[in-house]
Formats: sequence, structure tokens, C-alpha cells
Amino acid sequence: MRRFDYDLITLGAGSGGVRASRMAGKYGAKVAVIESSRVGGTCVMRGCVPKKLLVIGAHFGDAFEDARGFGWTIDGARHDWPAMIAAKIKELNRLEGVYRNLLRNAGNQLIEGRGVLADRHTVEIGGKRITGEKILIATGGWPAIPDIPGREHMFTSNEALDLMHRPERMVIWGGGYIAVEFAGIFRALGSEVHLVIRADHVLRGFDGDVRAHLTTELEKKGIRIHKGRTITKIAKAGATYTATLDDGTAISADGVLAATGRAPNTAKLGLAEAGVAINGKSAVVVDGWSRTSVENIFALGDVTDRINLTPVAINEGRLFAETQFNKNPMEMDYANVASAVFSQPAVSVVGLSEENARKTHDVLIFCTSFRPMKHTLSGRDERTLMKLVVDRKTDRVLGCHMVGDDAPEIIQGLAVALKCGATKAQFDATIGIHPTAAEEFVTMRDPVAPPAKA
Ligand code: NDP
Repeated sequence: MRRFDYDLITLGAGSGGVRASRMAGKYGAKVAVIESSRVGGTCVMRGCVPKKLLVIGAHFGDAFEDARGFGWTIDGARHDWPAMIAAKIKELNRLEGVYRNLLRNAGNQLIEGRGVLADRHTVEIGGKRITGEKILIATGGWPAIPDIPGREHMFTSNEALDLMHRPERMVIWGGGYIAVEFAGIFRALGSEVHLVIRADHVLRGFDGDVRAHLTTELEKKGIRIHKGRTITKIAKAGATYTATLDDGTAISADGVLAATGRAPNTAKLGLAEAGVAINGKSAVVVDGWSRTSVENIFALGDVTDRINLTPVAINEGRLFAETQFNKNPMEMDYANVASAVFSQPAVSVVGLSEENARKTHDVLIFCTSFRPMKHTLSGRDERTLMKLVVDRKTDRVLGCHMVGDDAPEIIQGLAVALKCGATKAQFDATIGIHPTAAEEFVTMRDPVAPPAKA
């Protein structure tokens, strides 16, 4: 006789929850997965996947222009936004079906509804109670919008991916991942885009040279960046929205996108009732095994606010299942997780920024900026940046940074090198592939001069 209805109850059918549940099922566990929205979660339904499809769609505009330099004549190219959104919706419906099948094939039971913890072993879904020996919280995050007058007039990345018409004039609030990615999409498809950022450069937390380079490239694309500014209110008159900045500037637009960060989905989940501790940012507190303050309750992915990236959540899910259901304890290594921002041009990094590395290491910096080969004929004024941060003492490469076409594809390979502890000498001993942009990463010979002491 089982003491509980299930071996595992997972709250949230996003990337992390699905991976953990499928693997637990594969190892023989009886699993229930509870989802209140679409199966697939943020990444597949409201984030990475649809966003990347729109980024790919937006890139064609520049490609058509660039083709002229290579002898092409492309007359009458027009973009049909509703057609792109319809194609995207169709693909997401297909993917949702794939995710449902994955759960079914793993023997997991999908329960659609909102799950709330009643106690440390009991989950209530619409008045029905089920019990689980272990409970996994994988409820992800949700857009956080500052509380200003007119906040209800803004939309978020959730809705931006489903707009039935492209706003001709857009205001985007924030300078993080989501802000620069959507700025690129809308600008490339013809919208007037205003980006309102508190700092002088986009992408706080990234390497300073990367931030400065991308900020310049976005401006070259015609994105109007309002630096050192914030939005104090939004007013709506008819179909027009007016964003007022803290210096009094008023920007009129057809839509205002709030890309001001995301917060963990921990509200009204019954966490306090079950004794699960959350931190000051409302994230579930976990140890290295994704265990919460309650022994049989675990949490992973964005709801824990560790590294908020899909592949990290997926790996946390895999390791959780290995540890709890396959007698194979595995702890996650958070070092050298590569990431990308699908701005135009794209950014990708692995390892430490120069600023962070300097806090603990004596470093050598190698940096190059060049015009990509394509643009020698296309005439486009766009430059690629590549940068290596190297430990002077050990010669180990601590960080690789790139802004430019294909940056995510290139950095993924370098992430393997960093995971293996590659040195600059090993980078130098690697023969480049010619002619590529990537070869610059193995041909940077001379360090740049260190910054002048203040
Ligand atoms: P980010 O944390 O990246 O950026 C938030 C932006 O909003 C920052 O520019 C921040 O400014 C600004 N901001 C926050 N609060 C305020 C405020 N009160 N007033 C004015 N400005 C404010 O969040 P995103 O929403 O862009 O993305 C959320 C997360 O989603 C990311 O951290 C990432 O983990 C994930 N993501 C990953 C992607 C990828 O891997 N390609 C793509 C999209 C999202 P400041 O810098 O001054 O603090």
C-alpha cells in the first residue's frame, strides 16, 4: 500500500518541471504534474522559443537590404505581421502537443488547474486534494511591473508575442534581456522604438565593453535610447499612449512594453502554510540539492532565482531526478554557464566579465572589434566585438564575450573549452577556420593596455 497518492507531485509544467517529472517517471516514480497555464511553460510558450522565431523573422529585413551589395534586386518586399504571428501560434500549438506527449509517454499524469499546498504532503487543485511523498515547486516567474500611475496601460513580453498588429511607435521600459530583444524585433520590422533605461548602457551585469558596444549598435539601428531615465507615468488617450519620463519628456506611442524584470511565482501557493522559506526577493530558498527548508519539498528553475535560464532549469530537473529517484546523487555546477541575448546584433558570453574578474584575479584582456566580412560588400555600418579575459598567473581563460552575428553559436563551443579549463596558450595553439569571425578568438595575440589607475 502506498502511503501517498503519488511519489512526486510537480507544480508547473515548464522546462524544469517537465524534465524532472519525465525522468522521475522513467525511474519508476508515480508522478502528477499540475499546470495552470499552457504545458511547456515560459520558455516554450511565452519566452525563448516564440521570441527566437520572431527574431529570425525580423532578421530578413536586414538580409534583404544587405543582399543589394551582392547584386540582388529585391523589389516590393513587405512584412505581414499577422501572418508571422499566426505561423508562430501554429508552431506553439504543435510544441504544446509534443510536451503533453512527453509527459504521457513518461507515465506522468497531467492535472490542469492551479495547485496550492495545503500541507507538506498535500496539494489542493480546485477543491480536490492529492498527496505526494515528494513535492517539486517549478512554477517559474512572471513579469514584474513597477507600480506607477497608468501601469495597467503597459503590456509585457507575454502579450508582445501575441500582438495582432505591430505598433508603429513603441516605448520599451528597461534595458535587460527582454527589452533589447524586443527592441530589435520591432525596430527591424519597421517600428519607431524608444528604449528607456536607468543606466548609460543596456544589459547591466554584462561586461562593460559588451554593454557599450551593443548600446552603440542599437543606436546605429535607429533605436532611440533614453539613458539615465525612468518612466513616471503612462496616460492613454484613444489608441495613443503617452509615457512621461522623470525629466518631463513625453513620448507618444502605440504601445508601451514593460520589460522591467521578472519575479518568482511564489504568491498564493501555500508555501508559508507548508513551512517553505522564501527570501527577500520572494524566491524559494534551496540548498545545492534543490531542497527547500522542508525536507520533502524541492524547488528548481526561475522560482528559485539562481541562474534564470531554461537550460539551467532543465539540468536542475535532471539532477533532482537522478538524486531522488535513481540513487545517483548529482549536484549542479553553476560555473561557466554560457548565455545569449538575441538582440540584433546578438550577444553571447561565458565566464567572467572583466569587471568581475578584476575583483579576484590579476587579468590580461584581449579585445578586438572589426567589420564583419559580409558588411564589406553590404555597406552596413556594423561592427563585431570579441573579448577574452585571461588570468595572468595561470593563463586560464576566465571569460569569452562576443557581440555580433552568430555569437551564441560561436560561444557555445567556447563554453566547452572553458569547462575544460582552457588556457590562453591553448586558444593560441588552436588553428582558426578561415575565413570566419570565430577564428578571431584564436588569433588575438596582444593584450590591450590596462585601464589607467584613478
Ligand atoms: P532583466 O533583469 O534582465 O532586466 C530588467 C531591466 O529593467 C533592467 O534594465 C532594469 O534596470 C530595469 N528595471 C527593473 N526595475 C526597474 C524600475 N523599477 N524602474 C526602472 N527600470 C527598472 O529582466 P528581463 O525582464 O529583461 O528578463 C528577465 C529574466 O529573463 C532575465 O534576467 C533572464 O534571466 C531571463 N531571460 C533570458 C533570455 C535569454 O537567455 N536570451 C531572454 C529573456 C529573458 P537596471 O539595469 O538599471 O537595474
